[in-house]
Formats: sequence, C-alpha cells, structure tokens
Amino acid sequence: MTEQTGNLTFGIIKPDAVRGGKTGGVISRIIDGGFKIRGMKLIHMTLAEAQGFYAVHRERPFFGELTTFMSSGPCVVLALEKEGGAVKAWRDLMGATDPSKADAGTIRKEFANSIGENAVHGSDSEENAALEIAYFFSRLELVNGE
Ligand code: ATP
Ligand code: MG
Repeated sequence: MTEQTGNLTFGIIKPDAVRGGKTGGVISRIIDGGFKIRGMKLIHMTLAEAQGFYAVHRERPFFGELTTFMSSGPCVVLALEKEGGAVKAWRDLMGATDPSKADAGTIRKEFANSIGENAVHGSDSEENAALEIAYFFSRLELVNGE
C-alpha cells in the first residue's frame, strides 16, 4: 500500500453533514468524482480523539470550538484513492474552507453551513494523508481496490 500513497487521501464527512442527512449525497459526489473508496466507517470521536486529530491546530483560536464540534456526533471517515493525485482532487471537490467562498459545484457550496461546520475534511498533503489514514484505520480496514 505504501507505494500508492500519492494516490490516496483522507476525508471526513463531518458531524453537521451526517446529522443533516447529507452522508449519501456526499458519498455520491465522491463516487461521481471518480474516487475509489478504500476505507469507510462511521465513528463518534471522543473530545480527546478530536484533539489528537487536530493537534496541529491547537494554538488556533477556534481549536476548542472545532474539537467540540468534531466530537458532537457521528462522522464518516474515508480513505480515498484517485490516480494522478488524490489530495488535490479531493480538496478541489470539497471547495474553500468557508462555504460562502466555495465555488459552485463543490461539496461545501452545496452542503456546508459555515466556516466551522463545513461538511467535510480533506488532508492538505500526501504526508498528512498517510498520517491521518493511519490515525483512523488499521491495515485490515483498507481494501486494495482491485
Ligand atoms: P479541513 O482541515 O477540515 O479539511 P481546511 O484545510 O479547509 O479544512 P483548516 O484551515 O485546516 O481548513 O481548518 C480546519 C478546520 O477548522 C476547518 O475545516 C473548519 O472546520 C475549522 N475552522 C477553520 N477556520 C475556522 C474559523 N475561522 N472559525 C471556526 N472554525 C474554523
Ligand atoms: Mg486542513
């Protein structure tokens, strides 16, 4: 699997979107966007697990709000594959962090409510994608997609 890391990214359907009944809509967008789902599960993070996942943001003023929100309900974690660079392709499909600035046709434009509750997460680099996949998935939970 490691040799294909460049084709993998990590995504989350965040609690606002799951609560709002948008899970199926987001997954449709992922499949229609040409991604292969290599791992997928519904989880409900504890506050400590959310703080661990977002540790890179711990000095940001919104850290408390963000980790409380991310542990406020179930979310769907995803390992996504796309040839040619999954990280950028998934961020392009998500749209801008602030949904009011997201392009038409993006997931955040369609499904997100605010800069904090913005429906989806996506890794920002191949290195972080590998770390984030490993944070949530064991090797047995990832399929080869063959
Ligand atoms: P993500 O990492 O979730 O894919 P992103 O890379 O577009 O989103 P980051 O700058 O990494 O954005 O911020 C991480 C998350 O923190 C955002 O997705 C959002 O949920 C939250 N966030 C970012 N900026 C703010 C803000 N100004 N106020 C409240 N929450 C924010
Ligand atoms: Mg980010």
